[in-house]
Amino acid sequence: LNRRLAEFGTTIFAEMSALAVTTGAINLGQGFPDTDGPESVREAAVRALRDGRGNQYPPGPGVPELRTAVAEHQLDRYGLTYDPGLEVLVTAGATEAIAASLLALVEPGDEVIALEPYYDSYAASIAMAGGSRVPVTLRPSDGRFRLDLDELRDAVTPRTRLILLNTPHNPTGTVLTRAELTEIARLAVERDLLVVTDEVYEHLVFDDAEHIPLASFPGMRERTVSIGSAGKTFSFTGWKVGWVTSTPELVAAVRSAKQYLTYVASGPFQYAVAEALALPDAFFADFRADMRAKRDLLSEGLTAAGFDVYRPAGTYFVTTDIRPLGETDGFAFCRALPERAGVVAIPNAVFYDHRDAGAPFVRFAFCKRKGVLEEAVTRLKRLI
Ligand code: PMP
Ligand code: GLN
Repeated sequence: LNRRLAEFGTTIFAEMSALAVTTGAINLGQGFPDTDGPESVREAAVRALRDGRGNQYPPGPGVPELRTAVAEHQLDRYGLTYDPGLEVLVTAGATEAIAASLLALVEPGDEVIALEPYYDSYAASIAMAGGSRVPVTLRPSDGRFRLDLDELRDAVTPRTRLILLNTPHNPTGTVLTRAELTEIARLAVERDLLVVTDEVYEHLVFDDAEHIPLASFPGMRERTVSIGSAGKTFSFTGWKVGWVTSTPELVAAVRSAKQYLTYVASGPFQYAVAEALALPDAFFADFRADMRAKRDLLSEGLTAAGFDVYRPAGTYFVTTDIRPLGETDGFAFCRALPERAGVVAIPNAVFYDHRDAGAPFVRFAFCKRKGVLEEAVTRLKRLI
């Protein structure tokens, strides 16, 4: 393994899912739903397969039906106008969208600012692009992990090429507010930075939280690469369909890298996702309500089991602090948890450069059936 990748090893998701299999523990580690997305969308995929749509290489930028559906989604939901011909790119999941964006936009030695804790592929993708990551740590206060805007401002240097943003944020569940996004946008314009914004949990926001795409702020559309994913929005993580929306120039740049990574992917599934994006509002509202109920169930259960819980405003993850249980090392805790309690979780420390700052935090996924979450809570209560 070369020096750029040596520090990364096996992703924590693979490690922890393997541990769930060998121990038979309930897997609240890796974030994938245990209920597949809508029947009608699965049927659409079967129809595409059967009718021979997408069984051979689809067009490089994605099938026109899906590009149009992505553009309509951005317009209907956010009032953002994108030309499906030039400003939308279909990718092999958000993971490829992130990698291709960084490979296309970062010069060796450029600095990339990322919110810490950061989703694990960010660090590896920045490294593969030859960039150096500059983490800005979200710190807990008043029950929420917060971005310190002064710290963000101080992190910008003449070498900063772009900010890699993520809202709703994995793993903390923070949804950046309009005020925070306004400041981030102002900074990006002032310092002439690009922003790659990972918004794969855009439809998973709860209570009063609102997802506002960064691209909708003044001066941002032309400097923002926005990323979405059908895996998260429609509960088909195995299909690996994601997308990028941006200007023609930035989309062309990302596509230059993408064409030598996978070239294309997921042919028949692209047609199905095009139909999914046109589902009525009720689908998105039901999905949100279902996940909110699960968030409450798991958050309350974890509180009852003795954890300090950061109730998330978005995503399907809840971050906890294990110190009330007399524990301080999330890694050790998560490695032992399958044996001790029959549950798998993720140590947030893997998402930090400042490992000490992340040490006591542990993430649980709640995109699981109610009975599974209840059983997990019953088991975790035995820890006290
Ligand atoms: N970004 C974030 C924040 C994620 O949690 C994930 C995991 N789904 C991804 C990107 C990757 O998405 P995909 O499965 O579409 O590649
Ligand atoms: N995004 C998922 C998570 O955060 C995992 C995806 C993966 O395994 N790469 O848990």
